[in-house]
Formats: sequence, C-alpha cells, structure tokens
Amino acid sequence: MVFEKIQREDYEQIVYCNDSHTGLKAIISMHSTVLGPATGGCRMWAYKDESEALTDVLRLSKGMTYKNSISGLNWGGGKAVIIGDARKDIKSQKTPELLARFGEYVNRLGGNYITAKDVGIGSDDLRIVKSKTKHVLGIDGEPGSSGDPSPATAWGVYHGMKAAVKFAHGANSMNGMKIALQGLGSVSFALLEHLVADGAKIIGCDVDQAAIDRSTKKYGIEIVSPEKIYDVQCDIFSPSALGASINSKTLPRIHAAGAKIIAGAANNQLETSDDGHAVHKLGMIYCPDYAINAGGVINIYYEGGAAGAGGYSKTKAFEHVTGIQKTIAEILGRSHIEKTPTHVVADRMAEERVAKARQAHK
Ligand code: NAD
Repeated sequence: MVFEKIQREDYEQIVYCNDSHTGLKAIISMHSTVLGPATGGCRMWAYKDESEALTDVLRLSKGMTYKNSISGLNWGGGKAVIIGDARKDIKSQKTPELLARFGEYVNRLGGNYITAKDVGIGSDDLRIVKSKTKHVLGIDGEPGSSGDPSPATAWGVYHGMKAAVKFAHGANSMNGMKIALQGLGSVSFALLEHLVADGAKIIGCDVDQAAIDRSTKKYGIEIVSPEKIYDVQCDIFSPSALGASINSKTLPRIHAAGAKIIAGAANNQLETSDDGHAVHKLGMIYCPDYAINAGGVINIYYEGGAAGAGGYSKTKAFEHVTGIQKTIAEILGRSHIEKTPTHVVADRMAEERVAKARQAHK
C-alpha cells in the first residue's frame, strides 16, 4: 500500500526511524532531491496513529518540493515528523536524548535531508539535533542564523500583492487600495509597514487583543470582528492567520464584498482545490499560497552552504524574496493565457522546473 502511494506521487525515499532506547519514532520523507537536498522542517505531533503521521509527512514533503521549486531554490522537498507530544509538560516525550538520536538519523542521510523548525520543534530543540549533524538550518541566535523569518515572509507577500495589483489594475503601487487583513500576527505586523507606507487602507481582525492593540497603536488601522472580515468592502482579501479560510462558505461573501484579489501569508489557504477553481470562475485572482509566502524559506536558504562563501546575507536573501513579484506575475499571466486557475498553474511551473533539472541530470 505504501509503495503504491509513493510510486504514484514519485517519492524518492521514506525513512522510518525507531529507537526503543529513547522512544524515538520518526518518519523522514524525501519527496525529491532533483533540485538539491530535500529540505523542510521537523514537526513533532501526537498523531493518533502511524498512518496519520505518514500521510502528514508525505503531504508536507511534497509541498516543500513545490515551494522550493517555484521559489527558484536549489533544494528539493523533504520533511520529518516525530510521533509524540511536544508539549513541555509531557516530559516523557521530547527528551534531549530523543532529539539527539533524531539528529543521528538525519546525519546518516549525509545531507540528502536538511531539517529545520516546524510545529513542536523550536530553536532549542534544533540545537540538540545539531550536536549530532550539521544538516540543520534556522536556529535563532546562532552565528550566521537568518533569524525570524516573518519580515522576509512579509516582504514576499507585499511584492506578490504588488504583482496582483499591477495585473488587475495596471497600478504600480498599493496607494488607495483597501485591504482586509485576516490575522495580525508576526507576518501581518511586518507587512503593515510596507502597505501603510504605500498608502493602502487596512481593515484588520484578530482573535488576540494584544495583536490588535499593537497594530492599531502603531498604524491606526480599522478593526472588525473575525467573523465580519469576509464582508469588508475591499480590493484585496489577505488570509494571513490560519489555513482553509477560502472555502465554499467564505468565498461568496469575499466576492460579494468586491475583493478582486486574494493574497496573504497563510499556508493552505484553499480548503480544497475546488475552491481554487471557484475563485477562477468568479474572475478573481488568487496568489498561490506557497509561492507568495515563500519569503521565510528563501531567507533560510541564504544560511549555510547554499549562501555561498560568507554565510547569511540579508541583502542577498531579500533580493531573492523580491523576485516573488516576478513569480506571481508569471503565474497570473499564464493563468490568463491558459485559462487555468492560478493554483494549477503554480503546480505546473514547479513541476516543470523539476522536470527540466531531471532532464539535465540525465
Ligand atoms: P502568528 O501566529 O504570529 O499570527 C497568526 C495570527 O492569527 C495570531 O495573531 C492569531 O491570534 C490570529 N488568528 C488566529 N485565528 C484567527 C481567526 N480565526 N481570525 C483572525 N485571526 C486569527 O503567525 P505568523 O507567523 O504571522 O503566520 C501567519 C500565517 O502565515 C500562518 O498561517 C503561517 O503558517 C503562515 N506563514 C508564516 C510564515 C512566517 O515566516 N512566519 C511563513 C510562511 C507561512
């Protein structure tokens, strides 16, 4: 059964790690190393069973192949999951011994898989992993670290929005655009600086009062309740909180409120692929999530070996992130010409780059 699935979607290698001494149970999935080492974070989660963990790691590692490819990185797609409860109060699970053992498994892969943070695994955990392998990126506070990815993600979302505004309205700036911003967390707070400087009018929402206060205090933005954000009259709807906020219930409301563009930081914005088709049918523009929100991963790319001599350079990293504007413009242009939804076009573009590299390797 597993072979059938991994053959169908062309996974290169899946590694099961089992260590009864430390209790480590992990799966590392390397979906593709065609463009470079399979790179993607390590998630620790209390999966209800192994099959749920496998499904998650397969989905996430394939997602990284697409994200790394469309972003022009010489990285393939990988991901690791550790089965267990990462909450601090469950001491029996996330022990230093378990994390070190995980590092040994990563090391055995000889750089074919590069790990980083994800849900349940933070910088302190990665420091322990790094004691056993150099194939780790994104540890805050380490020399040469790229630091908090949020400003880079925001920079990319801002440039993706610019491409969409240019495409839809022929405008070179966001001046006068009304933007409904769902979520006022780390990325949105950094994004506000660029949008406000451009002269956009922001209507935001959050479920956390502290996040609201921070944004209103600094930028004086208007606030609505989280439930009302879908009905805000706007030009751009920006999903920047949780996934699946574009679905069959919300899309008609966003459309009725006049939004022409959907562009935000959240992962997995479309609840289903059908919702992407629905956006297209309505004549709206969806900026594919993994293309527009890749600023963080691009930033990490400029750590370590991929950065070339000299290590992390913010200037080089942000220059690359600026290229998201071109990527989104290309996706929108192709979607228009090929009369195909943008999320389908983005997948094609990512697949084409991998296919081309595969051809060149032959
Ligand atoms: P964050 O946790 O700092 O912010 C998310 C905000 O959304 C929080 O303030 C939270 O209170 C709010 N929120 C939660 N539920 C909400 C709801 N129903 N309505 C309105 N607000 C709600 O996260 P972040 O780092 O800013 O990331 C935002 C999104 O972008 C996430 O989906 C994340 O996965 C994605 N993303 C982030 C990065 C990054 O560099 N941080 C990179 C790629 C993708």
